[in-house]
Amino acid sequence: MIDEKQISEIVRKVMSDMGAEAAPKRKQLGVFDTMEEAIEACNKAYELFRYYNKEQRENIIKEIRKLTHAEAEIMAKLAVEDTKMGNVYHKTLKHHLVADKTPGTEDLETKALSGDRGLTLIEMAPYGIIGAITPSTNPSCTVICNSISMLAGGNGVLFNPHPHAKRISAYAVDLVNRAVLAAGGPENIVATVANPTMETSNMMVNHPSVKMLVATGGPGVVKMLLSSGKKAIGAGAGNPPVVVDDTADIPKAAKDIIDGCTFDNNLPCIAEKECFVMNNVADELISGMLKNGAYMINAEQTKQLEKVVLVEAPPKKPGDKPKLVINKDWVGRDAKKILAQIGINVGDDIRCIICETEFSHPFVQTELMMPILAIVRCNTFEEAMEMAVKAEHGNRHSAHLHSKNVDHMTAYAKAVCTTIFVKNAPSYAGIGFNSEGHTTFTIAGPTGEGITSARSFTRQRRCVLVDSLSII
Ligand code: NAD
Repeated sequence: MIDEKQISEIVRKVMSDMGAEAAPKRKQLGVFDTMEEAIEACNKAYELFRYYNKEQRENIIKEIRKLTHAEAEIMAKLAVEDTKMGNVYHKTLKHHLVADKTPGTEDLETKALSGDRGLTLIEMAPYGIIGAITPSTNPSCTVICNSISMLAGGNGVLFNPHPHAKRISAYAVDLVNRAVLAAGGPENIVATVANPTMETSNMMVNHPSVKMLVATGGPGVVKMLLSSGKKAIGAGAGNPPVVVDDTADIPKAAKDIIDGCTFDNNLPCIAEKECFVMNNVADELISGMLKNGAYMINAEQTKQLEKVVLVEAPPKKPGDKPKLVINKDWVGRDAKKILAQIGINVGDDIRCIICETEFSHPFVQTELMMPILAIVRCNTFEEAMEMAVKAEHGNRHSAHLHSKNVDHMTAYAKAVCTTIFVKNAPSYAGIGFNSEGHTTFTIAGPTGEGITSARSFTRQRRCVLVDSLSII
């Protein structure tokens, strides 16, 4: 006799093995042909959802967590197929992280002030309908993470995902709606369009029903939302430097840096993008990296690689120099495939390309989002720190350090001013992976909400009762 649990496990395994084939052929829930239809449906759902109490919202979130765990592998495979970026195993882990560590309604706190003149309550209330723009790099993770946080806050959500990740983003919106329905909630409280474009984005941003905007992506989209005239949260680009000083546990630093830099092929915005190491430990660090799946290329090969992964963008104004920008074809691709482009054939054990460069090299200055790590030798810790601060470009996003010197930790943290600062661990510790603290896939540096959670998507409301209910 096979019991129900075994049957659902077999179904889950078969669906997972099928990958994209498992994407439903039926009309997906919450996915509309036009943004007008999505807005109308979300508005209708919100009229019911706005009266849901925290227990009802929490029941929905519990279902979202359950389905995310169950379909983590399916989504990881579909995301890789859809975007051609990243790594199925790491994407699966990312979905489990979102399901486990995105806070729910427990994140909402009421403040009560009582005294001689009565009682005042300050509560975290929904904004209403939130318009969220999501990236191609963590597509379904961001949709699910934002949905948990925003629904916990009592909001409805419209998504305009990256066009290159539209299938996987629609899958995630459907999953959230399935969870909402299973918990007895209203269909379409999370909605999107099947074909997101700039026009659907503009319609969402400018629609009067949309009361708050959230952008997770590069500088263009954050700038656009911040000029919308609406309350907006911007989670923008980073270029996280990692510094290694001569007090660090160097073999551990080497492994941690390669683990962080290669996680999901360097797609996470928090991942190590360039390394500044003190000269007296540089050889040991590089040798440790080579033992952990790194492949070192020489100066000539680095030049060849530049031609593959960077392209010239036309100057914005006449007279400006053309700027080198990333060739999106190579974002989030395997190190092995990138190396093959310059005639180097390696096995599957190679997961990172390392090279020694000057500070001014584009591999240091550009947010590549590829498993390529430029290493710059520095004479002193102070020099390394200064270069790291400059390479972060004032994004205030993430920076990392391997050191046992508390003065170095303090000085670097003060100088770099980032939202996330990880010491002696891979960068992903900054979003709660194998570390303390909750997770998010929307790290709001520019607007200051930081590691967003339900409370970030609420507004404070004050309720005052004068001369009563202070009971002392
Ligand atoms: P992207 O900026 O190309 O796209 C992000 C989203 O914005 C997409 O939905 C896209 O369609 C939209 N978009 C882009 N430019 C726009 C504009 N001018 N007007 C309206 N919409 C616009 O980014 P991507 O390649 O998908 O993701 C990678 C970037 O996102 C990196 O820079 C990375 O650092 C950043 N990112 C940041 C966070 C964070 O939490 N801070 C998380 C993930 C990714």
